[in-house]
Amino acid sequence: MAAAAFHEAVAAAAGVAAQHADDVDARARFPREAIDALRDGGTLGASVGTAHGGPDVGFADICDACRVLSRGCAATGMIFAMHHIQVASIARHAGDSAYIRDYLGRVASEQRLVASATSEVGTGGDLRRSIACVEDRGGGRLGFTKNAPTVSYGGHADDVLTTVWRGPDADASDQVLVLTARDESGMTQTGEWDTMGMRGTCSPGFEISAVFGPEQIVPGEFAPICSETMVPWSHLTWAHVWLGIATSAVGRAQAMVRAQGRRSPDVTPEAGGRLSAVVARLQAMRAFVDAATAEYAALMDGDPAHLSSFGYGLRINNLKIRASEDVAAICHDALGVVGIAGYRNGTPFSLGRHVRDSLSAALMIGNERIHATNARILLVQREV
Ligand SMILES: Cc1cc2nc3c(=O)[nH]c(=O)nc-3n(C[C@H](O)[C@H](O)[C@H](O)COP(=O)(O)OP(=O)(O)OC[C@H]3O[C@@H](n4cnc5c(N)ncnc54)[C@H](O)[C@@H]3O)c2cc1C
Repeated sequence: MAAAAFHEAVAAAAGVAAQHADDVDARARFPREAIDALRDGGTLGASVGTAHGGPDVGFADICDACRVLSRGCAATGMIFAMHHIQVASIARHAGDSAYIRDYLGRVASEQRLVASATSEVGTGGDLRRSIACVEDRGGGRLGFTKNAPTVSYGGHADDVLTTVWRGPDADASDQVLVLTARDESGMTQTGEWDTMGMRGTCSPGFEISAVFGPEQIVPGEFAPICSETMVPWSHLTWAHVWLGIATSAVGRAQAMVRAQGRRSPDVTPEAGGRLSAVVARLQAMRAFVDAATAEYAALMDGDPAHLSSFGYGLRINNLKIRASEDVAAICHDALGVVGIAGYRNGTPFSLGRHVRDSLSAALMIGNERIHATNARILLVQREV
């Protein structure tokens, strides 16, 4: 599939997502219609690469899709982002594993949806520590039991990618990524997902009790998977989701001011100045996110040492912190432009969903946790 066909399929799915966004949010239900549209359009294979039957698109195309989808429904955009983070973490570190290569072909041909279980009760959002441990279950089979507090679309995914401690004799940060089909993951839901925002991501807790073969462990060390793929793909695709939310919020604010302007054509609406300020903030966010996207797109297939450097780690962490703060501030400011019509649900200018969705951004790997990591980097990294 060419890039143009990919973007057409995403645009069509974005229309479907927008149509159902309020119902998805109100009922905290999976955005089935939009994900089906993305599946029908062949977009779930976008990160496997053309060699495995995926569309001929690059990282920036996938980021763009996250943004476009999130303008209509941020939960749909976030599901799309999280799926591709998992698939890219598998595809870019597949080594010469025949099992994984075959699996990537199946992602493209069957349009399989992949969820993630990295967070854990006891370690929270610390990506680099797992309590759940790989165990020998005999007969060449391995297993683990993980208490995952938040697994987005865990009840709807075909497969789950889980971080697990390599074994009780391994270093505390020595983890593996295990790929299991949902029906072999023994997933028991442990809570409800009745949240302020991102309600359509359907992200309750699950106890995952999986039995699997050694070939289902993604080859390679987890540290480079993290620094070269999982962290930059997460922070950048999420940032595009947040850019989509912010763009939609500002679009509603602008529509409100333009409607006021049409009522009194000779007078610039009083909210025009505030609109100008929030547009400036949106433009700054867009420039910052686009620059970070271009930087990663240029580095991702080059010398991996760049992506593992302290300097890059600091920049990509700060991208996440900054974009997550920007989206919340922009939605808040857009509400200030619109006023009560934005506060009220069910108007063309309603911003409740945008504001609530935006507040999840700082929590998706807590910003304070990221600042703590940066503080450690800054002890050794001289240049900022
Ligand atoms: C919409 C949404 C979808 C998600 N989907 C998934 C998913 O599919 N899979 C998945 O694995 N996870 C998912 N998560 C979980 C998420 O990525 C985090 O791992 C999780 O929110 C962390 O839990 P916590 O808030 O309890 O943070 P913790 O990491 O336990 O931290 C608790 C609090 O302490 C602060 N804190 C932590 N460490 C430090 C420190 N060193 N210094 C100062 N303060 C610190 C944090 O900022 C936070 O405020 C999702 C979260 C959201 C919001």
